Amino acid sequence: MLKDVKTRYAPSPTGYMHIGNLRTALYEYLIAKINNGKFILRIEDTDQERLVEDSVQVIFNALKLVGMNYDEGPYYQSERLDIYAPYAHELVEKGQAYYCFCSKERLEKLKEEQTEKSEFPHYDNNCRYLTKTEIEEKLREGLPYVIRQKMPTEGKTIFEDAVYGQIEVENSELEDQILLKTDGFPTYNFANVIDDHLMEITHVVRGSEYLSSTPKYNLVYQAFGWEVPTYVHLPLILNENGQKLSKRLGDKSFEDLLAEGYLVEAVINFIALLGWNPGGEREFFTLKELETNFTIEGISKSPSVFDKTKLRWMNGEYIRKMSLEEFADLAEEKISSVLGDTLDHKKISVLLQKRVELITDIPDIIRFFLELPEYTLELYNHKKMKTNPEIALESLRLALDLLKELATEDFKEEKLHELLMELAKAKELKNGQLLWPLRVALTGQEQSPGGAIELLDIFGQEESLRRIEIGIDKLVREL
Ligand code: GLU
Repeated sequence: MLKDVKTRYAPSPTGYMHIGNLRTALYEYLIAKINNGKFILRIEDTDQERLVEDSVQVIFNALKLVGMNYDEGPYYQSERLDIYAPYAHELVEKGQAYYCFCSKERLEKLKEEQTEKSEFPHYDNNCRYLTKTEIEEKLREGLPYVIRQKMPTEGKTIFEDAVYGQIEVENSELEDQILLKTDGFPTYNFANVIDDHLMEITHVVRGSEYLSSTPKYNLVYQAFGWEVPTYVHLPLILNENGQKLSKRLGDKSFEDLLAEGYLVEAVINFIALLGWNPGGEREFFTLKELETNFTIEGISKSPSVFDKTKLRWMNGEYIRKMSLEEFADLAEEKISSVLGDTLDHKKISVLLQKRVELITDIPDIIRFFLELPEYTLELYNHKKMKTNPEIALESLRLALDLLKELATEDFKEEKLHELLMELAKAKELKNGQLLWPLRVALTGQEQSPGGAIELLDIFGQEESLRRIEIGIDKLVREL
């Protein structure tokens, strides 16, 4: 365990919780937890053109739903804007940064010229070499300025990333970056570094798209003589077409997944494994379990694929882990949306919990309870059950005779089981030859939650007999 670990989740509010951002938050949180450290929340909202009120709410809600409580914050960069300028001026005094008075027009012209020469557009360090007198004069004239960092012109910037290993860039490739804009407000990168330093962040965890700007961040720390945090860059998340996950491509946000019926716990478990290998067979982890099992060493470099089929499967497994009461509560709204208050919802829940992957699938799965769908005789053919339409007709007639005679109060699972087994035996039918046709007649479907006996119990005598008679008529007509 490391000492005094402090991580931060530093989202720029976008209005939805991107899966990649949620993973970043989760890993930040877990790295704090495994080290008994602190997790803080900082809203990076210096880009104040958009109203962020609702977007911030989205972030709070997501963290709350997951149960990732922060120990400090939320800090808002927009409320800290006065903090940054003095640091930029400090670097000017230290000779690590300079005033740049270049006008917009000049910079645009420079860009044009460079583009024409097929050069990568970059600042030409025009103001880096102004003399003290020149600078004072321009300041006196009240010319607007930005503050730029003096990047080293030779050598390399090298840093160690906890996931990607040693990263090197040639300093000559780095532009003299702007730290403070003409309005006196910091650039995004500058505010990010100053805050990480002031908030004593020890581990910076973020998407690998930031890897290429990290040398620039590093040089800011170096210019101040500050300790550089541990960088933990996370692998890309790709969709099933191999593209980077994005809302624009129709990939789902956290909120979308919840609206589709995914359980928070399943999504978190799934996301934890997007880029982290627990190093064993085990795949199921609650947030609490992750808080002790997570490891930085297990984070992988290679992109991970957001496999929706796996998420669905995992969600189903989480449904299976619920108590029947929890599941029945959760399913109730979906069940009654189709069945109103008819039939026994609790019994239907028992069947559903065994096979449903997503709560939102329930209405389609149970529609047959409300209305017998059209079906073809083909459904009565089943090799493994050794049945076909002819056998089905015989079985349904036998079952009908038996079930008609049964007292309504005996029309219960246990009794039905006993009688039908006896019937099969007496008539030398395999159980499947009796039960498969019954299940088809009751559901009109190849698949359904529950078997014939459970379904008879749920439907009750009257509706069961009605459906069996329909089945017999259909067979008689179509055979
Ligand atoms: N604000 C950045 C984002 O939302 C995060 C940058 C960082 O973690 O350093 O992507």
